[in-house]
Amino acid sequence: MAEIIRTPRTDALVLDVLGRHGELDRTALAQLTGLARSTVTDVLVRLGRQEVIVQRPGTGGRVGRPSGVVALACPPGVIGVLALTNGVLQAAAVGFDGTIHATRSVETVLYELTDGLVRPGTDLLEAAMSKGDIPRGQLRCAVLCVPLPLSTRGGVPHRDRTPPPQLTTRMHQLPQWLLTDPARALGEQLGVPAWAENDANLAALGEAAFGAGRGTDDLIYLKVVVGVGAGLILGGRLHRGAGGLAGELAHLHVKEDGPVCVCGGRGCLMTQFNSPRLVDLVQSAHPQTLTLEDVLALADSRDPGVLRVLADLGRLLGRSLADACVYLNPSQIIVDGLLGGAADPVIDGIREMVQRYLQPLAATGLTVVRGHLGANAEILGAVALARLNYRDPALAAP
Ligand SMILES: [Zn+2]
Repeated sequence: MAEIIRTPRTDALVLDVLGRHGELDRTALAQLTGLARSTVTDVLVRLGRQEVIVQRPGTGGRVGRPSGVVALACPPGVIGVLALTNGVLQAAAVGFDGTIHATRSVETVLYELTDGLVRPGTDLLEAAMSKGDIPRGQLRCAVLCVPLPLSTRGGVPHRDRTPPPQLTTRMHQLPQWLLTDPARALGEQLGVPAWAENDANLAALGEAAFGAGRGTDDLIYLKVVVGVGAGLILGGRLHRGAGGLAGELAHLHVKEDGPVCVCGGRGCLMTQFNSPRLVDLVQSAHPQTLTLEDVLALADSRDPGVLRVLADLGRLLGRSLADACVYLNPSQIIVDGLLGGAADPVIDGIREMVQRYLQPLAATGLTVVRGHLGANAEILGAVALARLNYRDPALAAP
């Protein structure tokens, strides 16, 4: 197993800020850590000796003061990322700097992975590494991305009481390894440190470290249409909540007398607005059978009917988000970049509700933008998570 570096608290603080903000000069480091400049200098000397940071010359700087920027040194080797959705399992070998070296994917039904992710997942990861000519010994750690919440104990939160055997629920169809400790299962198989995280949480970390949220400490990331969820970055940290259920947007209550949801609630967003429902709403105006990709392409071409449907989704989310912003006061809401042009009407709908319902001063300080990372948001979020965890487990998200 790779050695994990343990550091004093001040060093950990500097590493944490560098991990979240990328390159910084000493002044910014002092401001963001709250440490005195002299302390920052001492820490940088220590971290420089350990070769966990790199210092590069800057373009300016005042006379008599050291100019230059500081960044985390990227460890050699790769992070193995396994991203599990309801339809596809994707494996990626990614550098600690965020360079995606190789990917492989295979169609996968989540509920059929009863023997564990381990065999198909690790096989796929090794195939991806082989495709990228990356020796197996280069694998330093692994991250599993799942489209479900994960509790602080590691598995998918679920009720202990089981229904009668002839009346199995979707939740009870989930493989046992996913309900208990998926990170441990993966780590034991690969022989490297491994972590598991919810997809929207990873996308939030990805956008915060590499995308639209760089330099922002308080943001809400929204994953919509292709899966539904939210990731919260508060005070620069991923906020998972007491039971790992923070940001479970799919279970936002939107219809009083709606159908029962897999979570046990009624009228949850996921029962009212999901990919098949979106396609159904648009299908009536088209003679050919539409797919979700067709609907997103129509949105890209500014089809008025699709724009109205997506703006309604934005307003539905925006009404609730306006209240969430009262509690959290974020400076940014980032909407799933995977939607491409289809994100714009959703953003318009959210902005409309925020302007209407949020305290004007808070609304003025809030921007609603499209994510920059598209389909790579979760993979780059896995890199952000690995960079924090691999250097110091005390900084891990849970
Ligand atoms: Zn629900």
